[in-house]
Amino acid sequence: GRKRMALAFDEYGRPFIIIKEQEQKSRLRGLEAQKANISAGKAVARILRTSLGPKGMDKMLQNPDGDVTITNDGATILEQMDVDNQIAKLMVELSRSQDYEIGDGTTGVVVMAGALLEQAEKLLERGIHPIRIAEGYEMASRIAVEHLEHISHKFEFSVGNLEPLVQTCMTTLSSKIVHRCKRMLAEIAVKAVLAVADLERKDVNLDLIKVEGKVGGKLEDTELVYGITVDKDMSHPQMPKRIEDAKIAILTCPFEPPKPKTKHKVDIDTVEKFQTLREQERKYFDDMVQKCKDVGATLVICQWGFDDEANHLLMHRNLPAVRWVGGVELELIAIATGARIVPRFQELTPDKLGRPKLTFFKSSCLVYVPLMNEVIWFSIGNKMMIEETKRSLHDALCVARNLIRNNSIVYGGGSAEISCSIAAEAAADKYPGVEQYAIRSFAEALDSIPMALAENSGLQPINTLTAVKSQQIKENNPYCGIDCNDVGTNNMQQQNVFETLIGKQQQILLATQVVKMILKIDDVITPSDY
Ligand code: ADP
Repeated sequence: GRKRMALAFDEYGRPFIIIKEQEQKSRLRGLEAQKANISAGKAVARILRTSLGPKGMDKMLQNPDGDVTITNDGATILEQMDVDNQIAKLMVELSRSQDYEIGDGTTGVVVMAGALLEQAEKLLERGIHPIRIAEGYEMASRIAVEHLEHISHKFEFSVGNLEPLVQTCMTTLSSKIVHRCKRMLAEIAVKAVLAVADLERKDVNLDLIKVEGKVGGKLEDTELVYGITVDKDMSHPQMPKRIEDAKIAILTCPFEPPKPKTKHKVDIDTVEKFQTLREQERKYFDDMVQKCKDVGATLVICQWGFDDEANHLLMHRNLPAVRWVGGVELELIAIATGARIVPRFQELTPDKLGRPKLTFFKSSCLVYVPLMNEVIWFSIGNKMMIEETKRSLHDALCVARNLIRNNSIVYGGGSAEISCSIAAEAAADKYPGVEQYAIRSFAEALDSIPMALAENSGLQPINTLTAVKSQQIKENNPYCGIDCNDVGTNNMQQQNVFETLIGKQQQILLATQVVKMILKIDDVITPSDY
């Protein structure tokens, strides 16, 4: 068919051609595209804004299968929100990057990006070109990042004095749903991180720490296990719960008498014959048990099950056993204890037994101590809380890891942002070009963090910010922030509320990057049936 073409001009006077087919698609160009993108980004940030800080709200999310998640974690909220707008997806990515690189500050980074977008919108309306805004933001972010370094402190801790690390993890946990147990969880997180840390190389491999949860129980009973855990009980309740210096046989072959094969016809026509057969079976299994004992095994871990009779016999012959253990777990146990998995019973020999230091069963979990991996084991009322507890512990572990990697900190409660805002504001005057407007807007965007913290704590946001800001300037004190918990002082150093320097810097850099990216998009083409 014939293609109809038309010549048109955009807001900047640049010509473009409209081809008929393309009219089928919805197309936003120039300012309109930027405005649409900004409002999409702002919408996402607005959702997270009320979750920021120790008094932030939790969100309840339901997925299409009806599973409900309650969380306060920015990255999770965004992950579970089914956004199909491309810009909203970018914001999700933003939170994820912060989570991936730092593990904390996932809400703040999105709130910051939202504020930058809001300010950009105002600048666009004043006729400032998006590229100029992007450049000004870039300059301002560099000013802020440098200023953060300037107001940062060295965070002192040592293996002999872990309290400062514990305090930091507590700060992270205080805004989470699990804050009731923050002291205990923080101590566990610090111990776990230190156990896998290489303090000389300032390296921590968090992959070596597993966080495992189980429904039914109290958060107070959370414990750190230096070893691996297997969520299984002994096969018989009367078997011992604790075995010192165990020697473990790991069997992937059946541990019971062979089942009569249907091919061979067995004539059982008398009670005697039946009993003889039973005796034979029993003898066979008894021999198996004896073989285990002969090679020196004091605990048998089986991939398969065995029947009640076998179980009873095992208990009587004093050979503790665990049945139905999964393949992955078997391998872990084997690696951890130096055992060799035995696939055929005849192959069981003393050298194949695993030798953990100590094996015990506690609140239905089997634990080997001490080994290559660590497990933080908790049990809690319901499934929903398990995931949230895992996320909160993850955040705490990340904070401890970040401090070991780099022990510079800045104070929280919005104090660092206010200080950066003052610095950026002051620097703006030195720029003669249009960028100075963008730098001032950046400063204003930084203020949105303390404002959100104030608002979420029930304080009047603008008044509170103004008061704190002028206090910072008057006292030349960059530690004044928002007293969210009504402690009585807004000195965040005294309140012990701080965040890692790299975390805060990363927040600012990532938020700037994503906003610059959004500003540079001036053409959005979506299929019309979208
Ligand atoms: P994120 O996912 O970004 O870490 P949070 O909901 O954990 O978001 O809130 C973090 C913000 O709350 C930071 O700005 C931090 O400084 C601030 N904050 C945490 N605890 C306190 C407190 N006790 N008083 C004031 N601000 C706090």
